[in-house]
Amino acid sequence: MDIRTKSVHTGVNIDKTFNSVITPIYPTSTFFFDEIGKHKGYDYTRSGNPTRTALEANIAALEGGVNCSATATGMAAITTVLFFLKPGDHIITGDDIYGGTYRLFNAVLKPMGYKFSFINMRDLNKVKAEVTKDTKMIWIETPSNPLLNIIDLQAAIDIAQKAKALSVVDNTFLSPYFQRPLEFGADIVVHSTTKYLNGHSDVVGGAIVYANTELQERGRYLVNALGVSQSPYDAWLVLRGIKTLGPRMEAHQANAVKIAHFLEGHKNVKKVYYPGLKSHPQPDLIQKQMKGFGAMLAFELNTVQVPLNQFFKKLKYFALAESLGGVESLIETPWFMSHASMGPALKASGITQETVRVSVGIEGADDLIADLDQALKG
Ligand SMILES: *Cc1c(COP(=O)(O)O)cnc(C)c1O
Repeated sequence: MDIRTKSVHTGVNIDKTFNSVITPIYPTSTFFFDEIGKHKGYDYTRSGNPTRTALEANIAALEGGVNCSATATGMAAITTVLFFLKPGDHIITGDDIYGGTYRLFNAVLKPMGYKFSFINMRDLNKVKAEVTKDTKMIWIETPSNPLLNIIDLQAAIDIAQKAKALSVVDNTFLSPYFQRPLEFGADIVVHSTTKYLNGHSDVVGGAIVYANTELQERGRYLVNALGVSQSPYDAWLVLRGIKTLGPRMEAHQANAVKIAHFLEGHKNVKKVYYPGLKSHPQPDLIQKQMKGFGAMLAFELNTVQVPLNQFFKKLKYFALAESLGGVESLIETPWFMSHASMGPALKASGITQETVRVSVGIEGADDLIADLDQALKG
């Protein structure tokens, strides 16, 4: 089945009471039993709710997993997955991962005894060299945020399998429409559904997708035990957003390609990072593991000619905001905003005070380019 068909149909038609075409919201904390031990599959909404079940079936189908847990936020999903491990266990991950993930790993879990290697995961020899007897997880984020570096999914997953460690991929940036890590043997995929899956910047949410039933059982147990499941209202919004995932991703990407080319030719732009440009240094990997380039891009602004704040103030259609993946274009400075919590590690990451990150929306490309053009005049 085409992924666009799955996104519209999977999990959706669950109301047999009135045959509603759209999944109802079940705003109930608890469900009554017909008699002791006999209910209709649900007893308490933290543990399970029919609206959330519909969303979970849908996301699992899109990623090709056996099941999924929908969580309150993306960070709730990531936190839950780290509870698969325990203090003393070692995790290998990138040095340019999402800022909130870095904060959880470095400032919350490390003081509790979890061990981390934050490395350049493009260098597979480095990844191999970091493996110890305590390595229990390899955490992969590709393309990376905000510099769009690509990590070799198959190779990184193979290293994890040899080490008998879990391979986890944060697939937020591309969505299952453009990349499906479980097809390369990953154990778990996580999402911030706040971004492309919901796509309308009106909800926060997360998802954990499992490759097999053993992981599913542990994951669902943890989500219930930790109490991080998503509310039925929010689950319903994400389910509604997902139905247009395919057309949205195509529209996002078409705009991003045009904007990347425009920026690359501009005299006040020093460098553009985008997988859809010929200048991207990893064309073979892009070809091998991605079904599209996505719509996140970054560039180095010549801030001597165009001061950062002036540039942002002049823009009409690009809101100065963190987050990404919504229908509206957003722009921000990773150094001062999304990645500021990285502290001293920021300097080594390749991000500079001139790096600008763009989440390209689905507005008319000509309007977006004209807007950037007038703001780049300096
Ligand atoms: C936003 C984001 C997260 C965190 O998700 P929240 O919904 O904000 O908690 C994790 N990973 C990536 C790649 C993200 O962009």
